[in-house]
Amino acid sequence: MSTATRITPGLDGAPTDVDVVVIGLGITGTGVALDAVTRGLSVLAVDAHDLAFGTSRWSSKLVHGGLRYLAQLQFGVAHESAVERGILMERTAPHLTHPLSMLIPLGSVTSRRQAVLTGAGLLGGDVLRRAAGTSSAILPRPRRLPAVEALQLAPLRTAGLRGALVTWDGQLEDDARLVANVARTAAAYGAHVRTRARVLTASGTEVELRDELTGETTAVTARTVINATGVWAGDLVPEVTLRPSRGTHLVLRGSSIPGLHTAVFAPIPGTTGRFINVLPQPDGTIYIGLTDEPVDGEVPDVPEPSEPEIGFLLDVASAAFAQPLHRSDVIGAYAGLRPLLSSGDGSGMTSDLSRRHAVLTSTTGVITIVGGKLTTYRRMAEDAVDAAVDAAGFDAGPCRTAELPLLGAAPRPRLAELEEPARLVRRYGTDARLVLDDARAVSKLGDDELLAPIAEGVPVTLAELIFGVTHEGAADVDDLLDRRTRVGLIATDRALAVPAAARALRIVAAVR
Ligand SMILES: Cc1cc2nc3c(=O)[nH]c(=O)nc-3n(C[C@H](O)[C@H](O)[C@H](O)COP(=O)(O)OP(=O)(O)OC[C@H]3O[C@@H](n4cnc5c(N)ncnc54)[C@H](O)[C@@H]3O)c2cc1C
Repeated sequence: MSTATRITPGLDGAPTDVDVVVIGLGITGTGVALDAVTRGLSVLAVDAHDLAFGTSRWSSKLVHGGLRYLAQLQFGVAHESAVERGILMERTAPHLTHPLSMLIPLGSVTSRRQAVLTGAGLLGGDVLRRAAGTSSAILPRPRRLPAVEALQLAPLRTAGLRGALVTWDGQLEDDARLVANVARTAAAYGAHVRTRARVLTASGTEVELRDELTGETTAVTARTVINATGVWAGDLVPEVTLRPSRGTHLVLRGSSIPGLHTAVFAPIPGTTGRFINVLPQPDGTIYIGLTDEPVDGEVPDVPEPSEPEIGFLLDVASAAFAQPLHRSDVIGAYAGLRPLLSSGDGSGMTSDLSRRHAVLTSTTGVITIVGGKLTTYRRMAEDAVDAAVDAAGFDAGPCRTAELPLLGAAPRPRLAELEEPARLVRRYGTDARLVLDDARAVSKLGDDELLAPIAEGVPVTLAELIFGVTHEGAADVDDLLDRRTRVGLIATDRALAVPAAARALRIVAAVR
């Protein structure tokens, strides 16, 4: 296995005949590329834009244990989610995941009956954890806290506060970082990973590709073609009909809710068991989400949050805390489209459609993999490649990904011992050393410049940006600021960070 990158923009030098073409480099497509290449298949995986350009960068960044599915009595999906959460947190990506405590305040809007039902649900979630074999050392058991203890974890509104329930789930360092890591791992095993390469047409054995850098078109033949284009799946395979729903998050500075040491599930007044999530992030910001709005018409490249969604999230979150939040606390907002299969009932109730994934084979033989979650990407990829191998009838090894750590992964105790800067360890695991050594070698700069925040209040470092170009296929400032790092979530920070991103691109260009 080579660690040199094979993630590159455009199609120059790409193979024109492979076992598998994967269309889309979100979490699903990168997962499929990794699954297929580690079964011994030759892979070309492409995206029209960039790694994690679509829904995969707009999530809540949680590694779900399936609690929500449990509430909907979807036991199979709930179990699958809990199993995949355990695989990610304990084996394949301990470096990019960590436990997150979540507090559910029991205040005046939560009746005693609702509190009992919610507590029972959390216990059910813990049964799922145990059934999945995930250690309580990683995800502790849920419990009830008296109000005084709850207030030490979060500055909750005290009027009517009877206490709180606390449970644990997984949180990602960043969703787009997971995608970049899976892509780099697939490339290290030999997959050809190409950004800026759009599939114009696809059949089960051929795709027509356009190099978005040159405008040139090429035909690539394959023994199977897997469509992992999320909300755009129906553009290439018209039999697939999706009914996307938009989910919006707000971004706040940590200082907007001082004393917040846990995620808080704020109950939506007038509903039973529905919450919005207030989620502290590893970089010190806070996300508040999420909405669920059906979307009709053409799918935009980048969905926009609406003002009513922003107002709704702010109002519900504000009601949970001692100090109200204001519109001026909102320093960013983002929206993503859930790739939900259409139920065909025309009811418009997208939140009731199954979130489980589907593998669909078109009349021309294209395998589409759609739905699911970031959490279940590995299982989705396994199912898609199994279906492709069966349909095409070729030899391939068994799926290996459940036991295959991503690049940089290591058991938590080993990660805790690493001496590299904590931010790099959090984002690259054992590859923190590689990131730093690469940046030193390429730039000839000292660590004081490579490891300093690139602008005031922006914790990203020049070392990460250089690595994004040398090892993760970043081709421009947008790739670096909006996907390899997430500075772009806050417009004012992004403006401050542009010169550093441009500098990283110049530094690498000078040595290529
Ligand atoms: C608001 C929100 C919050 C969520 N929160 C969570 C969460 O906390 N935890 C969790 O587990 N899941 C969560 N999910 C679900 C999860 O984010 C998605 O299921 C997942 O990211 C979908 O990934 P994907 O790879 O299938 O699609 P995408 O990420 O959309 O990737 C599709 C890719 O295909 C490319 N593409 C499209 N057309 C073409 C073409 N013709 N040629 C080449 N490339 C093309 C696009 O550029 C894009 O990069 C959330 C979803 C939403 C919307």
